[in-house]
Amino acid sequence: MSQATLPNIIDLSAQTPSVVHEPDRGNFTVKLLVLHDTVGSTRYPDRNDLGLDSIAYQSRENGTIRWFQGGGDVSVHYLVGPEATGAKIYRLCQESWTAYHAGGTANYPASWKAPDGTFYQGQVNGVGIINWISIGIERWGGINDAPGPNQTNAMVALATDIARRYNLAPEQIVAHKELEGDRQDGGILLSAIRKAVEEERKPKLVPVQAESPVSPPPEQTPADIQVQTPTQNPPADPNQKSPSDLISAGLTRLLDFLSPKGSPNAPLDIQGGAGNDPATQDNGSNGPINIGGTLSQGVSGVVPYLGAGVVKNNAVIVREKPSTDATPVRSLNQGTALRLSAYTDNGANSGSGPRWYLIDAADGGGWIYGGALN
Ligand SMILES: [Zn+2]
Repeated sequence: MSQATLPNIIDLSAQTPSVVHEPDRGNFTVKLLVLHDTVGSTRYPDRNDLGLDSIAYQSRENGTIRWFQGGGDVSVHYLVGPEATGAKIYRLCQESWTAYHAGGTANYPASWKAPDGTFYQGQVNGVGIINWISIGIERWGGINDAPGPNQTNAMVALATDIARRYNLAPEQIVAHKELEGDRQDGGILLSAIRKAVEEERKPKLVPVQAESPVSPPPEQTPADIQVQTPTQNPPADPNQKSPSDLISAGLTRLLDFLSPKGSPNAPLDIQGGAGNDPATQDNGSNGPINIGGTLSQGVSGVVPYLGAGVVKNNAVIVREKPSTDATPVRSLNQGTALRLSAYTDNGANSGSGPRWYLIDAADGGGWIYGGALN
């Protein structure tokens, strides 16, 4: 398959006002690439088939740039311009910034279920969590407006480059319409881009052979072989590793629920100097973590966790503490979907181990036995 060539990127990010983006990514890292179409307005639709001359298309293009530089109270990392003007790529926000491109609305909150089962929804410090974890690309055009060869090349090359640099699997590239119920955009090049990313990732699966073409290296033990396993974990199996930023995310998100408005940077203080070292943060039993208010008081080994689960059976009891002796709070029926904020592996073993989950405050709080969840 022929590789798309990444055109020069025109960097206009210095002209994007700080009021339409966050200066960093907080405690998050890039997990997601979101594709958009600019669509335009009813009066001035963004479409490649308008039959205008290149000067008129450039004028439309300039207007779209202004929209993403403060005119529309939204922002995005990259804009790919109209086919007729060469599908130029503009950088409107630095990738290290959090742009406002997929935050959702109150009626249509943006959400995404990651390949590892983590469910992202809600806001952190007033900014949609999807924005904190994503890079956005806007293609100038309508939702069903076919891209020409220039736009296709620019989109595929840019998306492939980003996916390579952040190690994103094809499933970590989505259309905006998949995240928010009232959006329709971003789908037209999705499958082509995912396919290109999948192709690009293939050669990396055989590095050992590439390094030793003649004979296998001597005394190579299984422990020396780097096996690249898929990143997918079963949704209800958080026993597997929990990336450090997800832990931070869970903590930050929960604090957003629990803290009074206007207590910025509380999550940073509460990390207890754990820093960004995954090895440190994965071991959530270090130091006291105050999660869920009274629900976690006196509970040991509470690990912040941003996840989801579904209740397996009817009449499952939710309790005040991770113990079958603890006060019942309410009961839940089979099929109830829950967002989870934390867990502990120091709870009472009721048949499938000592893990209990803290139900997110937004779903009523309380502890539920891990064995009761799918
Ligand atoms: Zn969009």
